[in-house]
Amino acid sequence: MAEIGHGGKEIKERIFDPSKAREKIKGLTEIPVRKQIANEIIDLAYGFFSPLEGFMGKADVDGVVKNMRLADGTIWPIPILFDLSEKEVADYGVESGKSVVLTYQGNPMALFEVDEVFEYDKAAMCKAVFGTDEEKHPGCKRTYEYKDKFIGGKITLVKEPKINEPFGPYFLPPLKMRQIIKEKGWSRTVAHQTRNVPHTGHEWLMKGAFFQAYADLPIEKPEVGVVVNAIIGEKRVKDYIDEAIVLCQDELEKAGYFGPHNHLTSLTFWDMRYAGPKEAIFHAILRTNLGITHHMYGRDHAGVGDYYGAYEAHHLLESVGEELDITPVYSMNWLYCPVCAEITSEGLCNHGDQQQKFSGTLIRSIVTDGVKPPRLIIRPEVFDQIMACADKYGQGSPFVTEEYLEKRSPVFDIEPL
Ligand SMILES: [Zn+2]
Repeated sequence: MAEIGHGGKEIKERIFDPSKAREKIKGLTEIPVRKQIANEIIDLAYGFFSPLEGFMGKADVDGVVKNMRLADGTIWPIPILFDLSEKEVADYGVESGKSVVLTYQGNPMALFEVDEVFEYDKAAMCKAVFGTDEEKHPGCKRTYEYKDKFIGGKITLVKEPKINEPFGPYFLPPLKMRQIIKEKGWSRTVAHQTRNVPHTGHEWLMKGAFFQAYADLPIEKPEVGVVVNAIIGEKRVKDYIDEAIVLCQDELEKAGYFGPHNHLTSLTFWDMRYAGPKEAIFHAILRTNLGITHHMYGRDHAGVGDYYGAYEAHHLLESVGEELDITPVYSMNWLYCPVCAEITSEGLCNHGDQQQKFSGTLIRSIVTDGVKPPRLIIRPEVFDQIMACADKYGQGSPFVTEEYLEKRSPVFDIEPL
């Protein structure tokens, strides 16, 4: 049976049969790609970006910039671009109607059937997607760093990525994820977008969303699963290391705070754009394609600095709600209240001045101290896993350092054909 994804289109994997791959790329010009583009090739080929089948042409970019829609009218908030310099276009002989092979780590990764070579006003793109064209916004910075020519066309993998330890079990592309959801018997699923190791505030966010998602289902058998979908992409110093993010999220299940009957940890390759409301829509699309029915949104979802209002993403989601096949589940911040002696939601109990917010600074100082915190701040098993990941993968730190960036193993490799 066809699996239907975003925009009502069937999700298709674009991957050549290994026995035919070599022949498909024979004699074609090779163009090496950087990691961001390799991530997006994977997303396109496995259907994370369905209905897109390749990098966008000008009509789609124009639609996204002017109306937040692809040329065919399907909602889409962020351009998916392949860039080259004018010199590269000339040197590689890239032109409409010609196929090239994209390589990563020196090995063939994907066939790229070029439809179009075009230019686009980057400042206009920034204003539309990020609401600003300031270079200090990290999404604008990434946009300005694109070279001056964009290439639109379909992508097909010639070699599937080898996902390295410890990430392998968590790479669950749309068709695989949908199959697992069926096997688990979940009639509803709620996505948790994360780039963090979980403190109890995150745990209660997930538990609160779980209750909201099954509110009108029979109590005996809720059949609801929380799907943690970690974003794995560009790392910056002071972020959590990727290994700690996935293993600590999974630890909540392994240690029994959830169970395999209602919890699953997974990952998606994506370099965050920090587009706030637009990225909230984008996350809804990714998780729709994964077969997920509900999506958690907290305050200032995917925001950065003070570019977006705390609930701006919620308003944008509401404005297009009918056209998205996923139900947003909104949440206030969760905090620790020492008077209630429990985790509580903002605005719920009346001990306002005594409540402790889970600020990034607080959690960072706890983790940096290495002294096990109270179990109502970070679960002891999660804390032990953070420390284990620091030793095993982070040269002693669970946070990204220059040393980690230099020495870490790649999350995936493209091996020779
Ligand atoms: Zn209280």
